[in-house]
Amino acid sequence: MRAAVLKARGRIEIDREYPEPRPNPGDLRLRVRVTGICGSDLHEFVAGPLLTPMPVVLGHEFCGDVVEVGPDVRGFEQGDHAVGLIYPSCGRCEFCRHGDFTSCDMLELAVAEHNGSFAEYISVPARQLFLVPAATPIDEAALIEPSSVACHSIRRSRLEIGERVVVIGAGPIGLLITALARAAGASRIAVVEPADHRRALARAMGADVALDPAEEIEGPIMELTDARGADVVFETSGSAAGFDAAQRLVRKHGRLVMVALYEGRQLRLEANIAVLKELDIIASFWANDVDFRRAVELVSSRKLDVRPLISAHYGLEDIQKAFEVLAADRGSYGKVLVNCG
Ligand SMILES: [Zn+2]
Ligand SMILES: [Zn+2]
Repeated sequence: MRAAVLKARGRIEIDREYPEPRPNPGDLRLRVRVTGICGSDLHEFVAGPLLTPMPVVLGHEFCGDVVEVGPDVRGFEQGDHAVGLIYPSCGRCEFCRHGDFTSCDMLELAVAEHNGSFAEYISVPARQLFLVPAATPIDEAALIEPSSVACHSIRRSRLEIGERVVVIGAGPIGLLITALARAAGASRIAVVEPADHRRALARAMGADVALDPAEEIEGPIMELTDARGADVVFETSGSAAGFDAAQRLVRKHGRLVMVALYEGRQLRLEANIAVLKELDIIASFWANDVDFRRAVELVSSRKLDVRPLISAHYGLEDIQKAFEVLAADRGSYGKVLVNCG
C-alpha cells in the first residue's frame, strides 16, 4: 500500500510498497479517507524524533471506511465510516475497562510501534472506533478526533453555564474549546493568540474578544470579567509564557486547565498565588470513550461546526509540501487535511 514515511527530520517520502497492517483479532481494517495534520505530527517533522523513532508513519486524526470486519467484531459493517483512537491499548487494565484507553499503560509503547494514518490502510481495535453517520462529510469527520480532545478538557474543567472563560492559544484545540465553551453556556470568552488569522478564526468560532499577547491583555480581560479574572482558563499554547499568563488571568477559586504538552517540560508555578487564589490546576490529556461519542454527535449535528477550521487540503503525494507549508507559517492555518484515499 501507499504510505507517507517520515524518514528523517523534515523529510517525508511516499513508499508505494509499505506493508499493509495486519489486523489482530478484534481489529477493523479501514481504508483511510482523510487525516488531519496534528500539532504533534508537525512537531515530529520539525524537531523529531521525539515520541517515536524514525522511520515512522505519522497521523492519528483519521476518518476511514471499514473494509474488513473480523469474526469477533460486532456493530460495524463494510463501508461504514469510522473515527477513533489509532494507537492500540491493552483492553484489560482498569483504565481500558472504563474507556480511558489513552491512559492505558501500553499506550506509550504503542505510540512508538504502531503505524499512523497517513497511509492507505490502518487496522484499529474495534473498541476504540466510533461509527460516523453516513451523511457527515468526511472532512468534518476527520475533525472528530481533535474535537474529542476539546470535549475532554471542557468536561475536566467542570464549566458551568454563565461562567467566564479565557482560552490561551488559538490552534485547532484552542479554537474547538472556544466553540464548545460557547455551546456549553460560557457568558464571556476571551482568546489570547499572537497570529492575526487565528484571532479572526477565534471570533468566528465564538470568542467575544481575541487579544494579541504582544499587547496588554490583562486590562481588557479584567474589564471583561468585572476585575475578577476568568472562572476557567484553558492553557492550550504549551508555552511557559502561556502558563504564566494563565495564573494571572484566572480568578480566585478558579480553574486552570492545562491542555497541552510542554516543550520545556518544566513550568513556573507561582506557589503563593496558587494557594492564595485557591486555584484548581487541572491537567487534561487526550480523550476517552465518552468524549469520542459526544464529539461524533456534536460534529455530525454541526452543534459543533468545524467547517471554519478547515484551511487546506493536500493529496497524500503532496504531504511533504503540506508539512513544509504548515511548518513555515502555522499561524495562517486552522486544520490542514491530507486526502489519503
Ligand atoms: Zn492530535
Ligand atoms: Zn489498558
